[in-house]
Amino acid sequence: MTRSFTSASTLDDAMTAIAAGARPVAGGTDLVVGARQGKKPLPGAIVAIDRIEALRGLEERDGGLRLGALVTHEAIVADETVRARFTALADSSAIVGSHATRANGTIGGNVMNASPAMDTGGALLCFGATVTLRSEAGEREVPLGDLWTGPGATTAAPGELLVAIDLPAPPAGTGSAYVRLEYRRQMEIAVVGATAVVTVGDGPGDDSGAGPVTDARIAITALAPTIHRVAEAEQALMGTGGGDDAVGAA
Ligand SMILES: Cc1cc2nc3c(=O)[nH]c(=O)nc-3n(C[C@H](O)[C@H](O)[C@H](O)COP(=O)(O)OP(=O)(O)OC[C@H]3O[C@@H](n4cnc5c(N)ncnc54)[C@H](O)[C@@H]3O)c2cc1C
Repeated sequence: MTRSFTSASTLDDAMTAIAAGARPVAGGTDLVVGARQGKKPLPGAIVAIDRIEALRGLEERDGGLRLGALVTHEAIVADETVRARFTALADSSAIVGSHATRANGTIGGNVMNASPAMDTGGALLCFGATVTLRSEAGEREVPLGDLWTGPGATTAAPGELLVAIDLPAPPAGTGSAYVRLEYRRQMEIAVVGATAVVTVGDGPGDDSGAGPVTDARIAITALAPTIHRVAEAEQALMGTGGGDDAVGAA
């Protein structure tokens, strides 16, 4: 049972509470809903971070993207830059839960919940995301691939708060998509998901006349304890025109 609940309005207040052992809650769609469903009891101490303005921004930086931890799935889907240049991320946020889930659920909560079935993970991984973790000792940056260690487990220390996620600028000629297998149209967790972020250069790649593929990043969701890239599938696309044979091999 939760013995202590506070609501922080500044990052400093949140850091003080977290250093004293409180767990952050952002949208609560994993932490609180999970407790109500009896999956896990609520932590003994909770600090709400949803009022902290400094964690809210979604902005372009040097052609890349900086997402504050509190950016909601709804805000990601609504952003034209994300839809045009980080399409796989928009694809994945667009199918998270219901309208209410997307309006309240945050990218920071999605990442830190560390579910191998979470939808935005493949896109963030393939776009080369780095997370910034803050503690009372300062900030450190961690490549997303080094954050998740298993279902619900990360390398973040208990006193660390995820404050932002940075995606570098994708090279010219990059396109991306995320698809998931599901048995219902809505409110379904991924049975399996696949992300592709592919960069195409000038000139013919193969008989299909397109390409060549100069960079290919493929990630699989919900098939292993952590979301991960699949080197063999990426290799099968490299240098090809991305035609049916290459896609079939991948
Ligand atoms: C009905 C329903 C449907 C859903 N469908 C999907 C779906 O289709 N796809 C999908 O991926 N997810 C789905 N989810 C899960 C959830 O909505 C997402 O994971 C959401 O992004 C979680 O964000 P949140 O802000 O609500 O997290 P919270 O519940 O607030 O937090 C989740 C966890 O992350 C920690 N945390 C939160 N923010 C931070 C931070 N900044 N730094 C450090 N730790 C932090 C919390 O302590 C907690 O352990 C669904 C949930 C529900 C209830």
